[in-house]
Amino acid sequence: MKAIVFREGSQWAVESIEKPVPGPGEALLRVIQTGVCGTDEHLLHGGFIAKFPLIPGHEMVGEVVELGPGEANAVVGDNVVVDNTVLCGKCHACREGNDLFCENFGSLGCNMPGGFAEYVVVDSSKVYPIGDLDPDVAVFAEPTACAVHGVDILNLKPASDVLIFGAGPTGLILSQLLKTAGAARVTVAAPTASKLEVATALGADHTVQVDRRNPEAASAALRDIAPRGFDAVIEATGSTAVLELAVSHTKTGGTVLVYGLAGENDTAAIKPYEVFSRELTIKGSYAQVHCLGRALFALQTGRVRTEGLITSKLNLDTFDQALANLHDSEQIKTIVSSR
Ligand SMILES: [Zn+2]
Ligand SMILES: [Zn+2]
Repeated sequence: MKAIVFREGSQWAVESIEKPVPGPGEALLRVIQTGVCGTDEHLLHGGFIAKFPLIPGHEMVGEVVELGPGEANAVVGDNVVVDNTVLCGKCHACREGNDLFCENFGSLGCNMPGGFAEYVVVDSSKVYPIGDLDPDVAVFAEPTACAVHGVDILNLKPASDVLIFGAGPTGLILSQLLKTAGAARVTVAAPTASKLEVATALGADHTVQVDRRNPEAASAALRDIAPRGFDAVIEATGSTAVLELAVSHTKTGGTVLVYGLAGENDTAAIKPYEVFSRELTIKGSYAQVHCLGRALFALQTGRVRTEGLITSKLNLDTFDQALANLHDSEQIKTIVSSR
């Protein structure tokens, strides 16, 4: 079968490799399509939890075409999305019910074979049938699951006023999901005008354009919207300058959620006195476990809409363009078809 393979030294190629065979409890999926994520590029350069050689792709939709021997929780012929996490169930963290921090954390497309291939083998207990949901909607199940986890962590009070920095797929999904979880008003701040238009179309109450080189300049507009700051501010860009700005726009007693993926050694300047005297809460949200069912439900019920999010459709042979799109600020989500 054809697959994208990442190798040591930021090398990658479209390769012809053996089609995988499902073992006991596993299902073989014929991949329909897989979303491209900024994490894929981190992985290519050895970041996050990369393990080479790697078939990347963690946001996949596929059709169950074969089951391994023994009992299986999947049905041949179903179109499904996949919870790509593989948890050991045996380590200290798993035994404490903290399996997001499993010491043997496996993740299809990150340190195990993923979806940028014609076929992928998955644990049959990790597939979620999508029925007749459009694969162009279902392909957002995994990023939506991560957003569901972030919203769980944030634990908003009803009628909260929320600001999100970032209008990538994550910011645009969060902006909608937060309204099912207590936000009475959502403001999205980001640099690209076309993405802010999508945010508005998907229900954001206010948008503010941010100049990447001078994020402070957006402050006046944000102060106009919320003079005392926002109850919760979500940093979904990975920029430390934006995180600093997020703190300054958080209402006294409010919460900052660190959602964006910053560099492992990046540091931000946050005044401990301000955290103390204004009783700010700073929280983090990392990946997800057990959120895929709710994510799919949010997509099926239209609570999270995806119109305008797919800006490019490619295939395995044009994967170079998929990587290039990650550096094009006009692009929101690139989808790679395996058919
Ligand atoms: Zn991702
Ligand atoms: Zn574990």
